[in-house]
Amino acid sequence: MGFWKTFTSFLILNLFWSKPISSNSLSSAELSEIPTSFLNYAKQPELVNLMIDARRRIHENPELGFEEFETSKLIRNELDKMGIAYKHPIAVTGVVGMIGTGKPPFVAIRADMDALAMQESVEWDHKSKVPGKMHACGHDAHVAMLLGAAKILQDHRHELKGTVVLVFQPAEEGAGGAKKIVEDGILDDIDAIFGLHVSIHLPIGSVGSRPGALLAGSGFFEAVISGKGGHAATPQHTIDPIVAASNVIVSLQHLVSREADPLDSRVVTVAKFQGGGAFNVISDSVTIGGTFRAFSTESFKQLKKRIEEVIKAQAAVQRCNATVDFSPDNKIDFPVTANNKVLHKHFENVAGDMLRTDNVKDMQPLMGSEDFSFYSEVMPGCFFFVGMQNETHGKLASGHSPYYTVNEDVLPYGAALHASVATRYLLEFKSKFRISDRKLHDEL
Ligand SMILES: [Zn+2]
Ligand SMILES: [Zn+2]
Repeated sequence: MGFWKTFTSFLILNLFWSKPISSNSLSSAELSEIPTSFLNYAKQPELVNLMIDARRRIHENPELGFEEFETSKLIRNELDKMGIAYKHPIAVTGVVGMIGTGKPPFVAIRADMDALAMQESVEWDHKSKVPGKMHACGHDAHVAMLLGAAKILQDHRHELKGTVVLVFQPAEEGAGGAKKIVEDGILDDIDAIFGLHVSIHLPIGSVGSRPGALLAGSGFFEAVISGKGGHAATPQHTIDPIVAASNVIVSLQHLVSREADPLDSRVVTVAKFQGGGAFNVISDSVTIGGTFRAFSTESFKQLKKRIEEVIKAQAAVQRCNATVDFSPDNKIDFPVTANNKVLHKHFENVAGDMLRTDNVKDMQPLMGSEDFSFYSEVMPGCFFFVGMQNETHGKLASGHSPYYTVNEDVLPYGAALHASVATRYLLEFKSKFRISDRKLHDEL
């Protein structure tokens, strides 16, 4: 809190600037050396050990969305040791740190902190100690990388031409921690945000992304289709919800195959069907549920509207009633994750300088989704994948598998990429905010 007051008073002092201060006195050769020197810095044993140790401690004690209390404490302890100021709690367990001048431009780098509700099947020294919870998406590695980046940036803080904002975010897996952070308003003055995810599909030492839509917008639905139960031998005295639900499911398939532009990719999947429990009883109701995906806000909204219409109307054909819930288990819709073209180019330049341009891969859009989209919806953002595949170590299990493992060799790459895209951003871009336009925080 105290820190933020200091930070906001910085803003008051600077209300009278006529221009943002960003200036770049480095040559292009000097700029292009920053990413490689940061990678070498990140590969020093001291920093590697810091990241591995943090990652393993988090892995042993996985916490679900908005419950990342110990993870949050670990992060704050590490930031305290580095002498980095932060604000906490943001969005329940989130931590937002700040390194640099306290002045614009402000560039954010983000890591997610939450684990999944599943049992780890990997036998190793740092296996999850919490039954039914596991870091199976690499978010433990993401936190460790952002801590590594924090260390690099703090050790180079006098060279930063602006401010790097570290965003340790809760609840990426479905509950929308990013949405809560955006709603908090703490990132209102941010010029750009970068985020990354480890990938088992890209080799170690390579990265991948694309300009524009990278990840789909996603939503979930659950519908209860109600009829009238009774004896299975006398269907004329019942209203059978199983037949109605079956027709609903078949009709939902037509939304993509018959109503969507074939060149505009979408998905509707019914993944849940629950109803009936006996051979000779027609049940009162059936519950179905699933997910839908699209690559534009317009397509997403249209799909959502039609899912509800089809479920209700098709149920009515069979004399059933249907209710549709688009936030089952408190899940929320995720927007499309679309990369700002200018920031994507910046990412490509920086990653190319670090890893060579042939290791910066163009990716096809993926049907998966990310709550990073809540940031990129309201501010320029760029999300990218960092490879950790190494065939000599064997094949890595996919994300959300109980056999998921992280190749810890990826940690220095992630840390150096975070630190480099942010540092170079401050050197190469001016803040779009005039200081007088800035929305000042409540503490004022
Ligand atoms: Zn995940
Ligand atoms: Zn993830």
